[in-house]
Amino acid sequence: MSKKNETCSFCGRPAQHGLLLLSGYDAFICSDCVENAHQIVQETLKASKPAPTETDFKEVPKPKEIKEFLDKYVIGQDAAKRTLSVAVYNHYKRLSHIAQAEEVEIEKSNIIMVGSTGTGKTLLARTIAKLLDVPFTIVDATIFTEAGYVGEDVESILSRLLQACDYDKSRAERGIVFIDEIDKLARKQDNPSITRDVGGEGVQQGLLKLLEGSIVNVPPKGGRKHPDQEYVKVDTKNILFICGGAFDGIETKIAQRLNTHTVGYNNVRRTMKIDSHDLMKYVEPQDLKHFGLIPELIGRLPVLTYLMPLDKEALRRILTEPQNSIVKQYISLFKMDGVKLTFSDEALEYIVDEAVRYKLGARGLRSIVETVMTEPMFEIPSTKKKTLTITREFAMSQLQSHKPEMLA
Ligand code: ADP
Repeated sequence: MSKKNETCSFCGRPAQHGLLLLSGYDAFICSDCVENAHQIVQETLKASKPAPTETDFKEVPKPKEIKEFLDKYVIGQDAAKRTLSVAVYNHYKRLSHIAQAEEVEIEKSNIIMVGSTGTGKTLLARTIAKLLDVPFTIVDATIFTEAGYVGEDVESILSRLLQACDYDKSRAERGIVFIDEIDKLARKQDNPSITRDVGGEGVQQGLLKLLEGSIVNVPPKGGRKHPDQEYVKVDTKNILFICGGAFDGIETKIAQRLNTHTVGYNNVRRTMKIDSHDLMKYVEPQDLKHFGLIPELIGRLPVLTYLMPLDKEALRRILTEPQNSIVKQYISLFKMDGVKLTFSDEALEYIVDEAVRYKLGARGLRSIVETVMTEPMFEIPSTKKKTLTITREFAMSQLQSHKPEMLA
């Protein structure tokens, strides 16, 4: 194979320190360079793979099946679940329609979900991605700025999607992107800005081309675009975008609209009984416009749905019912140490009451349970205890001793 004075024709190193030299017609290559070359070839092939002409989604579950699946993980939010199930079903039906080259082109239907923090927007999007087994990524709209300013370019959304599927471009092109906090991009006033609005309206504009479907140059490693960087061309035509936002205060806009309508149209007032405690369910695209999203963006998010604030009963169910509920997770953690963990009903009630007090929706539940369980998780593995019941008194004592951290 190699003699002592022969060197690798690629990296120039001689055959030593366990480096193997393979000889060709007129050159040598070392084992390290072979491995590097193999990796480069694999990555290049993956990135340049054409989008499949047929979709893998011949067996997309029906809307009812999608909803049943969501029911296992997400408590309540029936309206959002139904709308999402139909939208996702149609989206993937549309993909198989394209594959069959039908004449009528079905337009893409990206989704926007309105609902306070911790009500399950991200969880819904994540659960759908799990069901369909497609690449999924979550991005926070607040990290973006208009191209040319400090912050990330919107294209980096697609870098993350590529990363999520190990740079398999054809899979990324059928993935789901969840853009959180879209409401934070709202322009401050309900009229077109005169001065430049770097963080908000500019980013909304930047998102348009991603959302509607176009071929975008994506820096594979993310971050800002760089002239020396090689781009991957990603077609966003079949990527489903789901946006979410709390839209704090949008109820006022909804109420204003409903009021003017009811004054203007007497018939409507007579036939429509408005539930003033839950105005969110009347949300319409024009309310998003009044909130500060630009009409072009709203137009590219044709499916609008809402999530209800979670009441005590829902929070209680979230603690125990979902397939991977917080309580079930702790029970299995303790089971691994041979300990049977139980929570008393009163302890669960107390945890729910505290979560309501912190006003963090279901998000508060995890941090409260985490605080309650820290000490037992530290102590129990070193004892011979085989059972542990969390009582209201114990939960209360743990939470009270950690109050400053909880409130931080
Ligand atoms: P959002 O995106 O609306 O701010 P998330 O979906 O991130 O909220 O929810 C935060 C956490 O709270 C999730 O990880 C989940 O455990 C829990 N959660 C929120 N809403 C629900 C729900 N409706 N059903 C089950 N769990 C929920």
